[in-house]
Amino acid sequence: MTDRYAVIGHPISHSKSPLIHKMFAEQTGQDISYEAIEAPLHGFASKIEELIAQGYKGCNVTVPFKNHALHLARTRSIPESVAYCQAANTLSFQGDIVALDNTDGIGIFRDIEKNHGVTLTNKRILLLGAGGASQGVVFPLLDRNPASLAIANRTMAKAHSIKALVERHRGVRKSPVNALEFNDLAGKQFDILINATSVGLTDSELPLPHGIFAPGALAYDMMYGRETPFMKFAREQGAAVVADGLGMLVEQAAEAFFIWRGVRPDTAPVLAALRG
Ligand code: NDP
Repeated sequence: MTDRYAVIGHPISHSKSPLIHKMFAEQTGQDISYEAIEAPLHGFASKIEELIAQGYKGCNVTVPFKNHALHLARTRSIPESVAYCQAANTLSFQGDIVALDNTDGIGIFRDIEKNHGVTLTNKRILLLGAGGASQGVVFPLLDRNPASLAIANRTMAKAHSIKALVERHRGVRKSPVNALEFNDLAGKQFDILINATSVGLTDSELPLPHGIFAPGALAYDMMYGRETPFMKFAREQGAAVVADGLGMLVEQAAEAFFIWRGVRPDTAPVLAALRG
């Protein structure tokens, strides 16, 4: 019998996840279906209960419900990937159990290290933005032992709160995290710059100083679908590698597929097909 999965969001019609999971299923011979379902803004929990009653095996969760998903856990333990960032993007339904995972962090580090061939270890990383996406990737990035991890955000309180979260879990002395204002960036250089703000959605620019990209730097925008002003600026400033977030999307989906099916799909042909 075909096992049913879905991605739940609001809005959701733009989602590439059904296509990605269809390609994973064809590649691995798994008998699954996967659809995009829009939940009303205040109806996420009841939509999940509906899916469980209908026999779905799991779902992905996207904007704006990743934090809401946390309240649905019916399991003994919540993994660190979820507990640290207080958000989940992958739910598995097994009888009465609702297990949570967050695969965004694994998605970005696999894309950077495997697909772009750039190691995170010992690098000076700058994370731009302190919203849900930043919070989701901070701990997996730290697991790669970068030399430092600076977080710059328009609203400083949010950057400070991620710094405090890391210090709570890792200890103040072991934390390489620094919270910065955009004004503080002048004169500094980084090896890996990750744009986790949503400015690209409106084609707005971030106030980044010239010379911020160290020789050989990677500029990574979590947004995908078109070249953002951040990516354009990075090219003009001589960043060695400029990447969008499509690979992160495919890698986080592959991890969710693995959690559900126990089979790891090959992401390269899927990414190539999406780019083609
Ligand atoms: P949030 O709404 O949680 O956070 C938005 C962030 O952008 C905040 O840090 C906000 O700053 C900042 N921001 C928004 N407008 C501006 C502006 N004009 N100037 C400076 N900063 C601004 O969004 P998410 O964290 O969930 O998502 C961020 C981006 O990452 C989106 O583009 C999303 O599509 C992408 N993403 C991609 C994924 C992938 O798989 N490729 C996965 C997850 C997210 P402030 O705090 O000051 O408001």
